[in-house]
Amino acid sequence: DERLISAEWMREDAQLDTIRPRFLDDYIGQRAAVENLRIFIQAAKERGEPLDHVLLYGPPGLGKTSLAMIIANELGVQIRVTSGPAIERAGDLAAILTNLQPGDVLFIDEIHRLSPSVEEVLYPAMEDFAIDIVIGKGPSARSVRLDLPPFTLIGATTRAGLLSHPLRDRFGVMLHLDYYPVRDLAEIVKRNARILQLSITEDGCAEIARRARGTPRIANRLLKRVRDIAQVAGWPEIDAARAAEALAQLHVDPLGLDATDKRILEAAMDKFGGGPVGLDTLAAAVGEEPSTLEDVYEPYLLQIGFLKRTPRGRVVMPSAYRHLGRAVPSG
Ligand code: ADP
Repeated sequence: DERLISAEWMREDAQLDTIRPRFLDDYIGQRAAVENLRIFIQAAKERGEPLDHVLLYGPPGLGKTSLAMIIANELGVQIRVTSGPAIERAGDLAAILTNLQPGDVLFIDEIHRLSPSVEEVLYPAMEDFAIDIVIGKGPSARSVRLDLPPFTLIGATTRAGLLSHPLRDRFGVMLHLDYYPVRDLAEIVKRNARILQLSITEDGCAEIARRARGTPRIANRLLKRVRDIAQVAGWPEIDAARAAEALAQLHVDPLGLDATDKRILEAAMDKFGGGPVGLDTLAAAVGEEPSTLEDVYEPYLLQIGFLKRTPRGRVVMPSAYRHLGRAVPSG
């Protein structure tokens, strides 16, 4: 998915990952989660114990990986980063666990995608800091318990409900990250513009923030593209008008919608009378996988109230008609 405004990580984001916030004080917004973490981290440090296992959940691009790295920094420990799909066998996880140093953080992104046999290894590891390994084969096989160094598992997932109950129950701390208000996104844009040594006004930052779909990863990417346009055009400074001009050139509209979002809304309006229309039917009409529609496109359209989910399917709301300059159908 090569969409400019996709919340999923893309190769071109790698450069911006080097300007990730490093400590809690640099992490903008998400006050509730941050203030809780600050207390738990301080308490763990005072007791000289590892932090309880932490589950971070929320849509992609909102700063879960960044927060995991910050937690390790604040604790003054190493972090080992991996993901659910990357751990194929129970033995892979056992190898990772036995190589941790006391107090280390193990970050597992997309933790809901661990296979059941790998998850089994995680239960005693999380609960007792131990793993059970089977030695030998057949009737002479026996299970041996191996102690692990105490560690903190940080799991990330888009929805807590995707986790199995036994796994979810083993996290002591659950923190929900939600879409960022424009004010916080503007702050993030400002911080990163400073790091990139880019001259941009407060209004220019706000203009980018408004189109970033509540998502820091998208805000950063838009900032980078706007920077390219400004550089080639020779703008000495980016103000609101120039930011808007650059973003229009990138086909990102004032609410952060792109051509695909509009195609989805227009298909629902024109082919299905604004709905209700089933997800599969709508996906087929725009030539996308239903899961892509549901995970990638729909969340933001639901969040801004352009689409509504009903038991009979998706319904286009009046605000979407108005935004696209159409008459709102009666009834
Ligand atoms: P996730 O793991 O949830 O997909 P990341 O942690 O990779 O998200 O964050 C995506 C990008 O957004 C990173 O490059 C990071 O610099 C930036 N970012 C996320 N949250 C914040 C924040 N609260 N303050 C500043 N930058 C942030």
